[in-house]
Amino acid sequence: MPKTITEQNLNSLIDALVQDGTRVVGPKRAGTMTVYEPLSAGVELSLAEMPRRSAKEVFFPVCENILSFQRTEQGTTVTDVDVCTFPETVLVGARPCDAAAAPVLDAVFSWDYRDEFFLERRKKTTVIGVACTKCDDACFCTAVGLSPAETRGSDLFLTPLAGGGYVCQVVTDKGEALVDQHSQLFADTPSATPQPLAEPAAGQFDLKRIKAWLDNHFESPFWVGISERCAGCGACAFLCPACHCFDINDEGTEKEGHRRKHWDACAFGKFTNHASGHNPRDAQPERYRNRIMHKFKYYDDKFGQTLCTGCGRCIRACPVGIDIAAILDEIQKQ
Ligand code: SF4
Ligand code: SF4
Repeated sequence: MPKTITEQNLNSLIDALVQDGTRVVGPKRAGTMTVYEPLSAGVELSLAEMPRRSAKEVFFPVCENILSFQRTEQGTTVTDVDVCTFPETVLVGARPCDAAAAPVLDAVFSWDYRDEFFLERRKKTTVIGVACTKCDDACFCTAVGLSPAETRGSDLFLTPLAGGGYVCQVVTDKGEALVDQHSQLFADTPSATPQPLAEPAAGQFDLKRIKAWLDNHFESPFWVGISERCAGCGACAFLCPACHCFDINDEGTEKEGHRRKHWDACAFGKFTNHASGHNPRDAQPERYRNRIMHKFKYYDDKFGQTLCTGCGRCIRACPVGIDIAAILDEIQKQ
């Protein structure tokens, strides 16, 4: 029998988790926008709007220390950050396009080197996804094979009901454990009518055809045409749930400091700058080409997956109106 949870009980679940010391992250209002942020007890969850930034920060913060160092006359001491101290976390209210990006990123973060910072957070996070009942012109999850009801990446999945509350689909053992621990907040409901879900307008892309074109068009005037106006601001990469490039820097003084991971973006002019001064991608079209190639060819070549969940954030945020869905549409018509 399907389980349901009322809005009030969902808030009670958040309160109970917070009071138990679990870190709970979810969409909340901040000024004029909605963002994923740690929630405190009390009603803060705001599911009405797509969060401005993606949920990847739960697993992959913008910036984090990976070790600290101290130099004394006796020598240098290096102290690693202990990932075991990362807190148990529940990400509640994740959009399907955000939740679905996390398992895509598992592939790269556990590939030739295991990034324990990402993987430990993944292990310790339970994701409660929520189906989308609204979308805008930029959403195109269905065009890349996902949907407003996609459960991939969620442990528990909520679908809003016509009369209020949610029907809960247990997707993984983690989701089941969460329901079992708080069973008094869930009800067995024989029948429940879901709200109609969002219907993104974009038609399905032929990702194989797009990749086949990319395989043969590394050199093409197409790249100049579509991206010469790119300002190289990196907003597209920073907001994207699937972009994951980072840089590592030592910060501090000669005597003490930290080694830190920072997000980076292939749109930045210095992203590929060599110490010699040579830059193999020294013009913006080469950088934008990399963005498309990485998402729709290289990641597929390496891991058999597409590095885009169609969330539309890069389209909404681009200051010069570059529209990745329109570009993909143009490529598949070539
Ligand atoms: S490339 Fe754009 S549409 Fe695709 S997941 Fe990233 S931000 Fe969303
Ligand atoms: S958001 Fe637009 S202008 Fe900024 S780097 Fe991305 S494509 Fe270029």
